[in-house]
Amino acid sequence: MIKLNKIEEMARQRGRSFRILIVDDEPRVQDVFKEFCTITPSVEVDLAANGLDAINKVRANNYDLVTMDLIMPEMAGVEAVAKIKEIKPHLPVIIITGNATERLINQAGIRGAASLLYKPVLLEDFVDEVTLALQKSTTGGTR
Ligand SMILES: [Mg+2]
Repeated sequence: MIKLNKIEEMARQRGRSFRILIVDDEPRVQDVFKEFCTITPSVEVDLAANGLDAINKVRANNYDLVTMDLIMPEMAGVEAVAKIKEIKPHLPVIIITGNATERLINQAGIRGAASLLYKPVLLEDFVDEVTLALQKSTTGGTR
């Protein structure tokens, strides 16, 4: 079951919806997460298909959260996460990966910078993880 009550309550409290940037090179994956913005008005979703596009969008917009695929053309996810952490250190990032190993994540030094979800990701797990990350960033004093 998809639990949206928490995220909707948080959006109500702060008086505006959450803006999430979904970064993935697979249209099928983008579609799953885009579905998220059709089920609640509390979340707005933007899409990026590679790391470079993601960096440009992070610079130009005030997102509340980024979800990042690791294997993409142009700029890989690990590089993009590191760059995002430079630009906006407190912007929460969730890494969503299919085939990248734990080793890759550790090597890139991005463990701790982000939470992790493994593909295939169910929408309800996605919503739970997003809620948790937004909760942490709005109440955890990381800003
Ligand atoms: Mg990919």
